[in-house]
Amino acid sequence: MRPVFVDLVRRNSQLRGASMPRWAWLTPLIAVSVFVAVMVAIFVYLRGHEAAQQRETLNKDLEYTQQSVRLRLTALQESLLALSRDVATGDVSDETVWSDTAPIINDYPFVVAMAWLDTEGGSRWVRPAPNVVAEVVDIAARRAADEQTRATWRAVRDTGLPAYSRPFLGGDKQIYIELQVPVGQARKPQGTLLALLSLDRMMTTLVPAAVSQKYRVFFVDSDENVLASTSARAPQDSDLTYATPLDPPGRGLAVRAYAYATDSQLVGNMLLALVFGLSALIIWSLSQLYRHTRRRNAAERALLAETTFRRAMEDSLITGMRALDLHGRITYVNKAFCDMLGMSEAELIGKTAPFPYWVEENSQEHHRSLALVLSGNAPPSGFQIEVQRADGTRFPARMYVSPLIDENGVQTGWMTSMTDITEPNKIRDELAAAQRRFVTVFEQLDAAVSVRAVGANGEDELLFANAAYERLFGRDIHGHLSLSADDLEPEVPTYETYQPRVQRWFEVRERQIDWVDGRTARLQVATDVTLRHEAEEQSRSQQEKVQLTSRLITMGEMASSLAHELNQPLTAIANYSTGAVSRVKSGNTDATTLLPALEKASEQALRAGAIIRRIREFVKRSEPVKHEVDLPSLADDAVGFAEIEAKRRSVQIVAQIPEGGAPVMADRIMIEQVLLNLLKNAIEAMKDCALPPAERIVRLEVEDRGYEVEFSVIDRGHGVPDAIKDKLFDPFFSTKSDGMGMGLNICRTIIEFHQGRLWVDDNPAGGAAFHFTLPRASAAQRVERSASPTESGMTARQNNEVPTQSLPPETR
Ligand code: ADP
Repeated sequence: MRPVFVDLVRRNSQLRGASMPRWAWLTPLIAVSVFVAVMVAIFVYLRGHEAAQQRETLNKDLEYTQQSVRLRLTALQESLLALSRDVATGDVSDETVWSDTAPIINDYPFVVAMAWLDTEGGSRWVRPAPNVVAEVVDIAARRAADEQTRATWRAVRDTGLPAYSRPFLGGDKQIYIELQVPVGQARKPQGTLLALLSLDRMMTTLVPAAVSQKYRVFFVDSDENVLASTSARAPQDSDLTYATPLDPPGRGLAVRAYAYATDSQLVGNMLLALVFGLSALIIWSLSQLYRHTRRRNAAERALLAETTFRRAMEDSLITGMRALDLHGRITYVNKAFCDMLGMSEAELIGKTAPFPYWVEENSQEHHRSLALVLSGNAPPSGFQIEVQRADGTRFPARMYVSPLIDENGVQTGWMTSMTDITEPNKIRDELAAAQRRFVTVFEQLDAAVSVRAVGANGEDELLFANAAYERLFGRDIHGHLSLSADDLEPEVPTYETYQPRVQRWFEVRERQIDWVDGRTARLQVATDVTLRHEAEEQSRSQQEKVQLTSRLITMGEMASSLAHELNQPLTAIANYSTGAVSRVKSGNTDATTLLPALEKASEQALRAGAIIRRIREFVKRSEPVKHEVDLPSLADDAVGFAEIEAKRRSVQIVAQIPEGGAPVMADRIMIEQVLLNLLKNAIEAMKDCALPPAERIVRLEVEDRGYEVEFSVIDRGHGVPDAIKDKLFDPFFSTKSDGMGMGLNICRTIIEFHQGRLWVDDNPAGGAAFHFTLPRASAAQRVERSASPTESGMTARQNNEVPTQSLPPETR
């Protein structure tokens, strides 16, 4: 295939190189035109020459004719003069006139009649020529009618000189002229001798036969009226003509000749026509040839462009192409094939097995492959062989074979494409290695990774699971870690779930992905967080214990105050009871006097009971549970406790709590613990202050900010130096000799558990101000929702459990 292309290209370029320039096409055209012009010039010249010759000949012939006519007429005139002398001498009598005139009549056939006219014009005798009609010879009648002939007669009679009349129409409608010669001496004229001459006969007898054959000869008058002619055909304008005056007879008479068209003219014209015709044919052929050549050139250019394009395309291929004929001989290789092997076309084309690129030790395999190719059994998916370059290096190649069909549909061989698969092999190996690495790492992961999608039947379908997943859940679909309820969301927040089946906690991340088959699937990565979970549980229970202990300690610290507080109702009860007993004993009593005392004792008992119940509730060990708690009741209990302590320290607690404010979501005991702690610290801080009693006030302020509620405990105590502000909330930080230093730390833990913040400020009036916030019930529920896991098949944390997320640090 390639040699054909190459030859074609070469031939075409040679053709193009040798093709005539455009102007070269004009050469034959110019040559033909010049030839035609020369031929025309020659023709015109010859025609001119010939015409000139003809004209010359005509002139000569006509001059000759004129001469001969003149000679004959002169001779006639002489004969008539001789006769006239005889007539004058009387030698010619009426009896001899026939014989005397006979020589003239015989010699001059154009003389149709002779007559002797007397001096008066009358005819002495008339001698007609034989075969002349009577009208013609009726000279007397014509003379009577024609003044002209009379004038001629008179002139001859008077001058004594011969004269010719003007031409005239005879009785037979022929044209005649008269020649008259005088008879007798001038002193004694005896009339005239007249000869009537027929112009027609003059024409036939006087014009030489050679001339009349070549020309149409006419006698014409001064007006070019034809008087007599050798041809009945009227002369043509184009005919060659010549005229010469005829004198005698004179009188404007002339002889005119027209040349007949000659054969040589016809032949010349035909030749010229032939030359023109042939030239036109040559020009037409040239134009046809030119058009054909142009079309051919255009086709060649298109072919060349196509060939060049194909060649460029072929050369730009990176796949090697090789054609084998049906006997296994290489007939074609492309550039890529040569480049791949580092061999030239010449080294490959025409070669048969073993081919130069075969690997020697694999010869058998190569022969087998070739046999498969030639038998048409090469696998359609191609086959792989190792081939050797010219420099001895080798590479794996993949061959694809297809039959080579010529333009007649006949198979002429096999076309093989060859691709160097070193790189693909390398990539495949690298991919496989990467895959192995990936699988190894993936399978070693502790996290259970799975991909799932909803199958065609609507059931959950496990598309992928790593070893950890299969170890935990197996491949059975029903053993699966279920998806979150928000599986329509592209991404759901990380959540934790307890899987009772494997009795473990998992932290699960889920997101929507596009699976390899185009389906939308969900990727789930479940990390076993059981240990962390257990640690958190432990920490939480410890925290609870710490909080409880803290509350017990608080109660311990407040024990004397509480005892005092309890003592009052007990003392009152005792007093009322003693009073009542005395009255009963004295018998001086009735129900109406006893009842008030007993009622008061009962009231005091209830008061004492309430204090004890509060203490019991405060120190009760319980799971933290958040409820909607209204602000006044929340503050009341804490303030109630604190007031017992405040009283002892001579400090007043002023609480400003908005009525009817929206509830907060809180564990009542925990918040009460926080408030009590802050109030107690505030009271203690004012222990040594020298303020007047009216200013020894601790204020509890509650401000509803809409989305949250801020509690502030503001004292007038010694305040918190800046240096220790950061440490206050650290565990075991205390400036008190008997302090544990856990109070504020526990408070912060509790407040953060409620998604609130706790911080300390200076009281501008002196002292410290501790603030904390609690989200409003609605806002807290929102935060809970967003932080809590879904409520699907997983056992997620409940709202009242320790959260996995707290507020972000910047909000603290
Ligand atoms: P404790 O009361 O056992 O010392 P806390 O954690 O309650 O532990 O308090 C830590 C420290 O914070 C206290 O020792 C005290 O120095 C300081 N403190 C707490 N409340 C106040 C306050 N209202 N005014 C000044 N200092 C305070």
